[in-house]
Amino acid sequence: MTGATDTASRQLMSRARELFPGGVNSPVRAFGGVGGEPFVVERGEGSRIWDVDGNEYIDFVLSWGPLILGHAPRVVLDALEDTMRRGTSFGIPTELEVRLAELIVDRMPHVEMLRFVSSGTEATMSAIRVARAVTKRDVILKFDGCYHGHADSFLVRAGSGVATLGLPNSPGVPEALASLTLTAPFNDLAAVERALSQHDVAAVIVEPVIGNAGFIPPDPEFLPGLRTLTDRFGALLIFDEVMTGFRVAYGGARERFGTVPDLTTLGKVIGGGLPVAAYGGRRETMECVAPSGPVYQAGTLSGNPLAMAAGIATLTSLTPDLHDRISAQTLRLVRGLVESAARHRVPFSANAAGSMWGFFFRAEPVRSFSDAKTAHAEHFRRFFHAALELGVYLAPSPFEAAFMSAAHSNDDIALALERLDEAMRRIGAS
Ligand SMILES: *Cc1c(COP(=O)(O)O)cnc(C)c1O
Repeated sequence: MTGATDTASRQLMSRARELFPGGVNSPVRAFGGVGGEPFVVERGEGSRIWDVDGNEYIDFVLSWGPLILGHAPRVVLDALEDTMRRGTSFGIPTELEVRLAELIVDRMPHVEMLRFVSSGTEATMSAIRVARAVTKRDVILKFDGCYHGHADSFLVRAGSGVATLGLPNSPGVPEALASLTLTAPFNDLAAVERALSQHDVAAVIVEPVIGNAGFIPPDPEFLPGLRTLTDRFGALLIFDEVMTGFRVAYGGARERFGTVPDLTTLGKVIGGGLPVAAYGGRRETMECVAPSGPVYQAGTLSGNPLAMAAGIATLTSLTPDLHDRISAQTLRLVRGLVESAARHRVPFSANAAGSMWGFFFRAEPVRSFSDAKTAHAEHFRRFFHAALELGVYLAPSPFEAAFMSAAHSNDDIALALERLDEAMRRIGAS
């Protein structure tokens, strides 16, 4: 792509910029976090994507997490084809909804009852509505750098695209609403205890492993500590597993860390690349949702048959064995990157949980969003562009996690490591 002035990607992006704010339909796609021109994708297959100029990339973004089987997997395509011939939407209960819900409940037994929605934003927004209704309290607590979608209550020192763009609070969010959201640093139980003792908090919502401020794992005592504190102060604990769900372990964060939340939000992987998300928890809690109870929440396309079919095909394929295999590939890549950084004397740390991973250009481990912000931004920018030029697509922001899929073969990992080693060499040489 370098050198070419009038590529098909450039032409399309200039048309897109006339039509969409920043030329995109979600901010981080505009490459604001790394500079330069975004590419326009044409197709994907397995571990690879191709742009409209014919350049091929090994993809570690995977549509920001959902594509755990890789691009266009046969099982998902077959399920979609089979389902769409019988109609694409009914707004009437279907067997597919029941089957996908059973697959989720089977893996996450603490989710006894759930509701499907179409985006992670809807899931988290609805989960806090439930928490506020059952506790009869208004205040929620979130963590710096955690992203829970773009609902008003969460655009308070959010991570992800918001942090990248340097907009800690979004205009358009009423002060009155923002003031009901408290924030605390991730991994800081003392701050949580202080907040819970000073306010009547309805819920503490957390990404069990942060993936929206780069990849930041919880300290061993953090999630159990949140459980103890929320119990003591009568708040609900919400695990936002929209990203971690079915990536950090076969059964998600509860299986990996042992802490059981009151409510769980899911998205991304459970839709296998189609728009599906969900929120759920204990039966008594979820029975407050309409029409069982008074808490209103609805959706014209909720439980959409195509989306359900893609989710069923994905979760059915994702056996414990496959989960372990993808996790092992993830570790190979992460270890290789750490070795590469050491070889080229670049300050670097990298980490993984299951098939989710990430890295920072900083030698000391990152435990919070403020740590993440001290990583070397210019190294990231140069590494990203070098990787892209060499045919490896990483998220275009230092504040995003990376992913692995079942389609990434040993050869893919070896090739990616070879290319990323060259990118690292360029950083080390600078
Ligand atoms: C992606 C994400 C969301 C938002 O989901 P959308 O489908 O983009 O609305 C919420 N929470 C977490 C943890 C996410 O990673």
